[in-house]
Amino acid sequence: MTSKTPITVAYGDGIGPEIMAASIHVLKEAGAQIEIDEILVGEKVYLSGNTSGIEPRAWESLRSTKVFYKAPLTTPQGAGFKSINVTTRKTLGLYANVRPCVSYHPFIKTKHPVMDIVIIRENEEDLYAGIEHRQTDEVYQCLKLITRPGCEKIVRYAFEYARRNNRKKVTAFTKDNIMKMTDGLFHKVFDEIGVEYPDLEKEHWIVDIGAAKMADTPEAFDVLVLPNLYGDVLSDVAAQIAGSVGLAGSANIGQHAAMFEAIHGSAPRRAGQNLANPSGLLLAGVMMMVHIGQPEVAERVHNAWLRTVEDGVHTYDIFREGVSKQKVGTKEFGEAIVARLGQKPQQLKPVSYASGESIPPGAAVAVRTPAKKETVGVDVFVNWDEAGRDPNVLGEKLRVVNGDGVELTMISNRGQKVWPHGAAETFCVDHWRCRFESTTGALSHAQIVRLLDRVANAGFDFIKTENLCTFDGQPGYSLGQGQ
Ligand code: NAD
Repeated sequence: MTSKTPITVAYGDGIGPEIMAASIHVLKEAGAQIEIDEILVGEKVYLSGNTSGIEPRAWESLRSTKVFYKAPLTTPQGAGFKSINVTTRKTLGLYANVRPCVSYHPFIKTKHPVMDIVIIRENEEDLYAGIEHRQTDEVYQCLKLITRPGCEKIVRYAFEYARRNNRKKVTAFTKDNIMKMTDGLFHKVFDEIGVEYPDLEKEHWIVDIGAAKMADTPEAFDVLVLPNLYGDVLSDVAAQIAGSVGLAGSANIGQHAAMFEAIHGSAPRRAGQNLANPSGLLLAGVMMMVHIGQPEVAERVHNAWLRTVEDGVHTYDIFREGVSKQKVGTKEFGEAIVARLGQKPQQLKPVSYASGESIPPGAAVAVRTPAKKETVGVDVFVNWDEAGRDPNVLGEKLRVVNGDGVELTMISNRGQKVWPHGAAETFCVDHWRCRFESTTGALSHAQIVRLLDRVANAGFDFIKTENLCTFDGQPGYSLGQGQ
């Protein structure tokens, strides 16, 4: 007998308590050896005045169990309430979001009868770093941060996942035809790490056409690995086209902890009526059982669930006249699964977790020697709204700050080069990037500070700078569009 594994459980809000009770009942009846530490997170905590939504004791529990089984939560409307999902992912470093999207044709309505894909989404960076600024009256900015360790961790995770789960192919989606540096890094790391997995097929798609292909022909894909934003959007698309967002579970994996949840929300209108479908949370629980080393329980539960679905025992959301046999509530659906423990589906493909398939734990990052960095210029962003926003006037006015080893070489507006030799048709806002390049080799911080001083003395409102650096001699910055 396995010793009991402690897990932290949050029953959540809305339909949360009902679907969590049903899920835990099924897992325990299937022989799950778990010891539950219940914590309070969500609406009640928010409304008690704690804007984080998490009681302080919860972190102690999570740090000690390292496994979080979480029902959906209600985030109250209004400013100031932090999303618990984001806080938990970031605090615990849960960098990989794993979401299997499978269709259950002909038992659950789907446009894609043979769909069986797993979306692996990077969970911590990209535009979700949450670094936003209003820079001028007209211009707002969100920083997109893509890091080499972040790419290495998620890409390696995806390949490991594919290998361990007998998948054949890993596909990356990026937009590196446009974002050559950030998405380009993701693609590059995908190619680099892919070499270590000769047994797996690898491919890369530009995200727009890839997304279209996935929505149209999901059977062309197997495991997908995506940066955060694309993954966020496409994992919902994938779950929806597989059949229903109500059926998908997800795992959030990090090196130190993991969180398992349904992908849907707390559906407050359905709460307390024994109506909700517990499948998403239960299937997340199946991933959790694999994660904590009880794959035989995972397999028993998953196969019994498939059999229940196949037998036409359905909650209201998946019930269809003529296909479904029995409309049941949350509790009864759980009991129907329990009654089928030990059985396998007859038409749907049974799952097998005992043969070494598992969710890989968070991977470590390779140690690298940093590249040699040299500063060769600086982009000074200015808020300027004079002279009818004529870039030639701005260029002329800024010439006075040249000198001390730096020279203005380009001005762009929203990335489009407008000086020198801009096009009169280009629409300009009040936010200008003025590129100064060194005329003498490496540029010092002191030179940049003196440049900013001259820019301010010339009457300009500078709002930020970005250093232009080379790394091992390669430029670490993009050119202006049209430069
Ligand atoms: P929702 O997912 O709760 O509901 C969307 C629709 O799907 C509703 O019609 C609902 O009745 C139905 N539905 C969802 N889950 C179902 C289930 N298990 N069985 C049957 N029907 C189901 O999304 P929403 O209405 O946009 O959000 C409600 C609340 O949930 C909000 O407070 C939101 O912040 C929160 N939310 C939480 C999470 C999370 O905790 N991970 C995720 C998304 C939304």
